[in-house]
Amino acid sequence: MNSYRGKRVVVMGGAGFIGSFLCERLLRDGAEAVVVFDNLVTGHRRNLAGLEGDARFDFVLHDVCRPLTVAGPVDFVFNLASPASPIDYAQLWLETMRVGSEGTLRGLELAEAKGAVFLQASTSEIYGDPLEHPQRESYTGNVDPTRPRSVYDEAKRYAEALVSAFRRSRGVSTRIVRIFNTYGPRMRLEDGRVVPAFIGQALRGEDFTVFGDGSQTRSFCFVDDLVDGLVKLAASNVTDPVNLGNPDERTMLSFAQAVRDAAGGGGKIVFKPLPEGDPKQRRPDITRAKTLLGWEPRVPLDEGLAKTVAYFRALG
Ligand code: NAD
Ligand code: UDP
Repeated sequence: MNSYRGKRVVVMGGAGFIGSFLCERLLRDGAEAVVVFDNLVTGHRRNLAGLEGDARFDFVLHDVCRPLTVAGPVDFVFNLASPASPIDYAQLWLETMRVGSEGTLRGLELAEAKGAVFLQASTSEIYGDPLEHPQRESYTGNVDPTRPRSVYDEAKRYAEALVSAFRRSRGVSTRIVRIFNTYGPRMRLEDGRVVPAFIGQALRGEDFTVFGDGSQTRSFCFVDDLVDGLVKLAASNVTDPVNLGNPDERTMLSFAQAVRDAAGGGGKIVFKPLPEGDPKQRRPDITRAKTLLGWEPRVPLDEGLAKTVAYFRALG
């Protein structure tokens, strides 16, 4: 049974990296309409190029902090609107806080008015610099509200609280997904995240810039796997937060080697200062997603990196 056949779906932030793959997946799954609201602050229309000729698809250039209007019924609202890379939100301090708070409010108001399911894209960043490892959904985090990354962490934490309040007080059917580091084609080469940074360096034959001593860890999930989890979660009845990510944990030093294996490049590793508040370790416990959604990632790192490198290579 396909949960999206004939459904009408709104994707806030749909012109971004993850959102554009989500729109494609929803239309492949038979959605009757997919409407994107995006102000293109970090996204781009070219991410949606493959959908522009589809009569079921509509793009609205719109800041989601302003009220959202959609004609006719809506079955699902996915809220992915937010800068997501540390250098993006360090240039968009207030915009990041506004979209996490006012933008989420606008999405919830739309879902309430239409009787739609609302899915909030939260983040592993709500765990801060985690003292529990791997991170389960029950962990409440180690977050400093005034460090530079706090604009993102705290906006996402507030959004989770707002979503929970709408569920309790207004009866809106809500889902919360805590997304761990996700990568794939359509990331921006210059967005500062480690995957495009290392791939760009490899393709240009430059040195790899490892921050700190490179012992900090992340766990990288390929975008197709992540999107599969998003559609499964929205279609489920799970209202508690759910981690989605790939538990394959790497140090940044070993990750630089994995990128070198995938992309070539003769550059050496150079060490740069660790950004303030950079979490030391991160790996999702995905027991809840496995048990309740029957979801787990399928794409191994070498395969996902090969696809991502091919994308960046084709850009020239
Ligand atoms: P992205 O920057 O590529 O996409 C975000 C989209 O939101 C962009 O198209 C941007 O233009 C849009 N947007 C931002 N503010 C807006 C506003 N006020 N009005 C309308 N549109 C607005 O980022 P992404 O990597 O695709 O992330 C998507 C979502 O997933 C974000 O909410 C992010 O916090 C979350 N997330 C991503 C990751 C990851 O590893 N990529 C990890 C955790 C959480
Ligand atoms: N990082 C790095 N070199 C870079 C960019 C990032 O070593 O050129 C490190 C960064 O310090 C962090 C990890 O890679 O420890 C992941 O960074 P990213 O910005 O991709 O994601 P986040 O920190 O939000 O998990």
